[in-house]
Amino acid sequence: MITKIAVPIAANNPNEAKKQIKKALDAGAEMLELRSDYLEGINVEIVTNLVAEVKNSGLKKVPLIVTCRDKQQGGAVEYPLRLRIDVLDAALKAGAEYVDLEFDNFRSIDGQEKLSTTLSKVSKGRLILSAHNFETKFANINKLYRDISSVYPAAIPKLVYTANHINDCFEAFDLLHKTSGERIVFCMGEAGLISRIIAKKLGCLLTYTSIDDKTATAPGQLTIGELKKLYRFDSIDAETELYGVIADPVGHSLSPAIHNACFAEKKVNKLYLPLLVKGGQLEFDLFLNNVIVRKWLGFRGFSVTIPHKENALRFVRARYGYVEPLAAKIGAVNTIIIKGDEKLAGYNTDYAAALDSITSTLKIERAGLKGMQVAVVGAGGVARAIVAGLSDAGAKIKIYNRTIKRAENLADEFGCEYAGLDGLKDLDAKLIINCTSIGMKRTGDGRQNTEYSPQDALRRRQETEDREQRTGDRGQQAGDNIPIPEEYLKKGMAVFDTVYNPAETLLLKQAKKKRLKRIDGLSMFVNQGMAQFKLFTGKDANAKLMRKTVCNELKK
Ligand code: NAP
Repeated sequence: MITKIAVPIAANNPNEAKKQIKKALDAGAEMLELRSDYLEGINVEIVTNLVAEVKNSGLKKVPLIVTCRDKQQGGAVEYPLRLRIDVLDAALKAGAEYVDLEFDNFRSIDGQEKLSTTLSKVSKGRLILSAHNFETKFANINKLYRDISSVYPAAIPKLVYTANHINDCFEAFDLLHKTSGERIVFCMGEAGLISRIIAKKLGCLLTYTSIDDKTATAPGQLTIGELKKLYRFDSIDAETELYGVIADPVGHSLSPAIHNACFAEKKVNKLYLPLLVKGGQLEFDLFLNNVIVRKWLGFRGFSVTIPHKENALRFVRARYGYVEPLAAKIGAVNTIIIKGDEKLAGYNTDYAAALDSITSTLKIERAGLKGMQVAVVGAGGVARAIVAGLSDAGAKIKIYNRTIKRAENLADEFGCEYAGLDGLKDLDAKLIINCTSIGMKRTGDGRQNTEYSPQDALRRRQETEDREQRTGDRGQQAGDNIPIPEEYLKKGMAVFDTVYNPAETLLLKQAKKKRLKRIDGLSMFVNQGMAQFKLFTGKDANAKLMRKTVCNELKK
């Protein structure tokens, strides 16, 4: 079965409904759902006329579902059950291909008799019997499915529930996997988003999308544009291999855009998803175990980012997978591959991406890093990956950080020197690398527009403050937009800013003014994406396309 893209039409009068229908069809809707509960002052005549007009118009012919949802199950207006059944009955008689009624209400004698009689008379009308849980999973989704099928075997069961965690989605996937024929099963909410995309891989009758953000009728609904362009919906089939970025938060991630664009260009049957995995090690392990035991889902690899890079390393180790030696040294895995024999492999593409950015700009081989004096500003996750890579290559590193203790710990681990930020005044290095978040673009509300959510920023800030309190170590604050004062940048130095939004930071602008060699965070970001793409596909991604995709996404 080819899953259809269904667009709900939620208008409060017939004229507005007709406008929305045209817009939806123009956008590529393959099915329409007329949410007649949104129509004001609804009656049988209004719906009969509207359905007949749509069916007889010159517009593209697509199947029409008419719904008049019960307020208890997400309806817009509290219309009496008898009226709602009359409306659905009239829609069938007027030519609607499907009507959708809540299973609980269908079981009331009145509904069953009336609709069953009409359904036996009309040539093409089908009944969708639906159940919704806006709070959580169903107590027993399999029993519910069986109940619907036994009460009215010709019905199309529709079971929709809110996933409070991505791990809640697997019941929906299992049900789709072990049933066949026309059925609709998916999860609402941000955690359920992937179920709306891989609905097609699992043969669900339809997936609901909205024309734009403003017209979404349920939480977690994607727009038709996102589904078709970003998630390559038209190319998904049962064989599509799945990849994704495991993160929390994940909505901001640029990885789905870059990997899907490059998958499309290489014409490979692969799809990359945003995988919101909330929680810690337990939830992370549960997610990956859920995926691994369901081979038929076809997950083959993952990017892993905040806050799960350490969890990923522990997971791969616990399953006796291969861990790239430097990833083990860094203490973080940002790429997991599930091999054909179900063996796992964990890599860290961050350090190699940074080293490649440096060597290509400085036009040297990795061996040329040996003995090079490098100043690393910052001592967080990115600094750790870069220090590990550079020290492996034999560079002489000095780490500068606001929280001196953190610089000391990192320096001790990799045999480097360290200082507070005030030590930068004596800066003497061939290469200076900013690994702090200073210089990142801020959003309108003053937040830094980066990989991190406000909660994450708050958590990190809190960690820093706790550390300062514990150690009495409060290093010097850097400027708001520039981590290294301009006067410390001297002739002959090369400057690398890992911040990639904006692509040209203030630090890089000042380095440009002084005619210094510059490496931007965007090239590191693209390099790590390229390295992941190679691990996912065995092919080289188109670097220009990846960079262009990142730039376009950052402009949004
Ligand atoms: P992290 O672990 O939170 O570390 C942040 C670092 O920035 C710490 O050293 C912190 O110092 C320092 N810092 C933050 N605000 C500061 C301020 N006002 N003054 C002085 N120091 C400050 O973050 P991370 O994961 O290492 O990421 C750092 C940056 O790397 C990100 O912001 C992002 O832009 C960039 N990044 C780039 C790529 C890429 O591919 N190009 C990938 C990931 C991240 P304390 O230790 O004193 O708190």
